[in-house]
Amino acid sequence: MKLTNIFSLPDAIVKAIANDSYNAGPCDISCTRLVDSPRKVALEVQHAKDLVEDVSDRIWSLFGQSIHTILERADSTPALKENRLTMTRQNWVISGQFDRFVVADGLLQEYKTTSVFAVKDECRQSWQTQMNVLAHLLREHGYTVVKLQVCAILRDWRRSQADRTQDYPISPVLTIDIPLWTPEKAEDWIDTAVRKHQAARTELPECEDRWETPTTYALMRTGRKTAVRVYDNQIDADNALVAAGPNHELICRRGRNLRCEQYCSVRDYCTQYQSYAQTAEKEMSTSA
Ligand code: SF4
Repeated sequence: MKLTNIFSLPDAIVKAIANDSYNAGPCDISCTRLVDSPRKVALEVQHAKDLVEDVSDRIWSLFGQSIHTILERADSTPALKENRLTMTRQNWVISGQFDRFVVADGLLQEYKTTSVFAVKDECRQSWQTQMNVLAHLLREHGYTVVKLQVCAILRDWRRSQADRTQDYPISPVLTIDIPLWTPEKAEDWIDTAVRKHQAARTELPECEDRWETPTTYALMRTGRKTAVRVYDNQIDADNALVAAGPNHELICRRGRNLRCEQYCSVRDYCTQYQSYAQTAEKEMSTSA
């Protein structure tokens, strides 16, 4: 991975990011990658030397590392902290590092510096998978895991939003209980995931982890900036337009693959994304 500095950020920031001490250790796959899209991971491995990332895109990772360091320094409860464990499945070594495991309580905790969007269900699902893989690593090494928890620090939390929006987190820091899988379920999940990642190294599968947002239809009234109402299917939207009468129109807000468009470092090498982007461009030029 090559780093660029397109915004001419201060040298100290560039060096702090370039000197990231993260190392998955000697393994075939890390726990973080195991829970990720096999297509994305296979492309990352294939193009490791060609990938380019700007330091500005790593700033939240740097922020997360500093939070981890400060919290670890302040934590006086006897616990295992930042330990890395491995296990072998299908001849692959899987490696995972957890933030904090209180042996006496069987409590596994992870700190996540993240966005409000990420605490919604879809991202919680990936936390659930990742933490259950870590729990299984602990079991493999003889520990008993009783409870899983994420401590989420929301970097974009706004009090004004919390006061007026339903389902918005009530605090910038949340402790979220994560369901603990049975050992059998964890073992099955890991076995299947390893096989999928191994197969992806030979033939790229479809990527399902694209953070898709649905296509919606906004009913707009002349002279008003915001939508009168947003519909998730065209039939309801067409009926609403007829009922609303003159001075109204429908605007189609096309669903997007947010991860591909904004967050995936391998999109330049991903034919699935390129074909999606071409289709989206065609649709836009037809509707223009
Ligand atoms: S560009 Fe999109 S489809 Fe391709 S690997 Fe990345 S997330 Fe998956």
